[in-house]
Amino acid sequence: MTPDELKAAVRTRPRLVDGAMGTQLMARGLPSGACGELWNVEHPDRVAAIHRDYCQAGCDWIITNTFGGSSASLERHGLADRAAELNRAAARLAREALDDHVVVLGDIGPFGGFLEPYGEMAPERLLEVFSEQAAALAEGGADAFIIETMADTRELQIAVQAARQAGNKAVIATYAFDKSADGSLRTMMGTTVDEAIATAIEAGADMVGANCGTSLSLDDYVQLAEQLVAAAGQTPVILEPNAGAPQNVDGQLVYPATPEAMAEIVPRLLAAGVRAIGGCCGTTPDHLRAMRDALDRYISALEPS
Ligand SMILES: [Zn+2]
Repeated sequence: MTPDELKAAVRTRPRLVDGAMGTQLMARGLPSGACGELWNVEHPDRVAAIHRDYCQAGCDWIITNTFGGSSASLERHGLADRAAELNRAAARLAREALDDHVVVLGDIGPFGGFLEPYGEMAPERLLEVFSEQAAALAEGGADAFIIETMADTRELQIAVQAARQAGNKAVIATYAFDKSADGSLRTMMGTTVDEAIATAIEAGADMVGANCGTSLSLDDYVQLAEQLVAAAGQTPVILEPNAGAPQNVDGQLVYPATPEAMAEIVPRLLAAGVRAIGGCCGTTPDHLRAMRDALDRYISALEPS
């Protein structure tokens, strides 16, 4: 999917992106703390089953199981030297599991540390890390890229640059925003929605927005959607909310929003101008199925009868 094709696709109608991957892997037996990306070669059937579940729920865009797939991120599992292999396998298994009309987005997540001078990662080195991941995703058959859960605008810029260099494929870039002490929505690094989105567009992202955001309620996501659309101008906006703000129940994080509650905000997000909606932490194929229905109802209500 080229940048022009992405823009045309979301202009025609809003798209449904898939839901959470990590919790689905755990539901299929991945031990907590284990490397989910390793399953792209060790249990490709189980990863493919998750992709197919989201596809059957009605998702148009499916995200590869490579959120923690950069060599820098795989390092903590001692798997840094397998980054290219695991990303290639992830894109290939998603592409093979899904019909041609489903778009496979190659996922790039944060590398898991801080850039210089706060941390030890040099920008030039990070560009190499993300470039390796993006090239492997493209080689495996990813149609476009999605850069997710970013907090640092510089890291996002480097990831966009790496994805841009991996071929003429659309690049989607999203940040995680949370409520700061004064009530404003900011990234963990303190960046406002306006600043963050301006940086992403300047870096060359074809679609911009947000995912995750651990302290946000569903109403907060609607407010975030309005701010994103205002900040993005002509650039289309994507939003992947969590299933509400997690609650601690007997030491376990529980995401409270039901499929019906998630479906209820879909028309509000669309009315705000969002052109692609998915789900982040706590969402399941059931949530996405309910969101598909809500999206379709919204579209058919707009069409002249
Ligand atoms: Zn999330």
